[in-house]
Amino acid sequence: MTVSEQLNSVITDVHDFPQPGIIFKDITSIFQHPDVCKSALKSMADHYRNRQIDCVAALESRGFLFGFPLAMELNVPFVLIRKKGKLPRETHAVSYALEYGHAVIEVHKDAFTPGQNVLIHDDVLATGGTAAAAAQLVLLSKARIAGFSFLLELNFLNGRQKLAQFGAGVFTLAAH
Ligand code: AMP
Repeated sequence: MTVSEQLNSVITDVHDFPQPGIIFKDITSIFQHPDVCKSALKSMADHYRNRQIDCVAALESRGFLFGFPLAMELNVPFVLIRKKGKLPRETHAVSYALEYGHAVIEVHKDAFTPGQNVLIHDDVLATGGTAAAAAQLVLLSKARIAGFSFLLELNFLNGRQKLAQFGAGVFTLAAH
């Protein structure tokens, strides 16, 4: 089985969560399968090994699960992008639209160094709004966006189109 097939076979669809009409992709079931986790991590790391990645930044909270081991595989620093109010020191903040209402994410002002090539990682690419907000945080810090990495992308929501403005590659292991 390919990594994509492995992931699709263990990711669970939850209908009408968190609201009616949404099919939620529950990635927690991946962690019951260490072999799938290891293949997924290896595929991501192999994809980026020879590209110039200086840092991996991941989104709270499911992005942390593969983002941190990916950074360690690539032997680069890891940065936590968190929801508003969680980070203790001075932050940059970006507000972005969700399906209903809005959300704010933050990063420590000194988390990135200017000119650093940052890989942004999250579990699922849906509309791309969250990853685009993370990219804004990278740019506010005067760092560069080296790419976007996700376990799974939901093709019908056109997240790739939203991320095209940043001129960086989008790599996903599986699609739905
Ligand atoms: P986005 O629409 O790309 O901004 O997605 C917002 C966040 O919610 C991302 O961090 C995704 O991981 C998560 N998310 C959005 N839609 C889904 C879905 N259908 N299943 C699982 N996670 C989702």
